[in-house]
Amino acid sequence: MDKLKDHRQIGQELDLFSFHDIAPGAVFWHHKGWIMYRALQEFIREKLALEGYQEISTPVMVKSDLFKKSGHWDFYSEHIFNLNVENEPYSLKPMNCPEASLIYSTKTRSYQDLPLRLAEFGVLHRNELSGVLGGLFRVRQFVIDDAHHFVRSDQIQSEIHKLLLLVVDFYKSLNFKPEFYFATKPDKAMGDPNLWKQAEKDLKEALKDSNVKYGIKEKDGAFYGPKIDIHIKDSQNRDWQLATIQLDFQIPERMKLKYIDRDGKPKRPVIIHRAILGSLERFIGILIEHYQGAFPLWFSPVQVVIIPIADRHIKYASSIVDTIELQRIRVELDSRQETVSSKIRNATLQKVPYMGIIGDKEVKSSKLKVKSYDDSLISVRTREGKDLGQMKFSAFLQKLKEEIDKKI
Ligand SMILES: [Zn+2]
Repeated sequence: MDKLKDHRQIGQELDLFSFHDIAPGAVFWHHKGWIMYRALQEFIREKLALEGYQEISTPVMVKSDLFKKSGHWDFYSEHIFNLNVENEPYSLKPMNCPEASLIYSTKTRSYQDLPLRLAEFGVLHRNELSGVLGGLFRVRQFVIDDAHHFVRSDQIQSEIHKLLLLVVDFYKSLNFKPEFYFATKPDKAMGDPNLWKQAEKDLKEALKDSNVKYGIKEKDGAFYGPKIDIHIKDSQNRDWQLATIQLDFQIPERMKLKYIDRDGKPKRPVIIHRAILGSLERFIGILIEHYQGAFPLWFSPVQVVIIPIADRHIKYASSIVDTIELQRIRVELDSRQETVSSKIRNATLQKVPYMGIIGDKEVKSSKLKVKSYDDSLISVRTREGKDLGQMKFSAFLQKLKEEIDKKI
């Protein structure tokens, strides 16, 4: 087996992203890397649309007062980037919760409005020392697949239950099996001990109901509430903690959030902070190493390369490219003056899943039916070096679409 490569090396070879001294810890996404980034976001958005989420977007730069109010300033200030604007202190947001809470508080919420699920792909900045920055795994600017669920305390258990099923479904779609860890009350916990007890009980019940196996991280909860950590193992059997489901009683208190309960009285909601994949930058870094650049079809920046054998095949090859593009499949034409074997070699090195070869036979097959490609032929190879031989062009398209849908 080839030596395993670091995601930075693969990122360079496949032209996905780069880093520059001018912006330590911030990713410059190249076109192909950005295609993957957007494909991942698209995948997440499709799933969330079915789960009753509302997507929001809030400012990157806000007055530091917000983080003083939310409590982040006391515990987190060394990670916050601050700047001075017209003699007032501002910060680059290190997390989305306080701003999502502001959106929550723009309306009088009723007990019937909850749970309210606000999702956000907000750009976050956290100050990490430049010495510990490391490719996509540790950056200063990133985006989390973040969401905040504002719930009544009697909804905690069912909401967590639903979330666990969603997490399992997400990872199943990506061919991973998540592992869960329940992190219990730390010694330095804030808030009402009874609330903690109830919340821990709710989380445990939800874990049981969801039929997932979980471990315990004793006293590893946050000071403001218990949490569930989500881990996966990659192809090299490395363990990654990716994301958390986190209960929070403190921000609602500090930001004075409320809803009007059935009895007409104002009550505090509970916030569930949750990310499923975690930082998208880091998750893509993990996927790059997990697949060693040979991504599943849906995630490949280029899904098919069409290779004409000689110049006289280019015209037909480019009409094939147009037809594939119409199906929203990412396809490139390699019409360079190179030998077929060198074009195949290049596509293989670029880890393009499929190559379609167009020669005399294929061009001739298209003449059988002028207006449709149904009976046209195409010779197909894979990046693994498998020759799938000639197949009907329509069958090839069908195969691509099925694989993209199934995410295999
Ligand atoms: Zn949050």
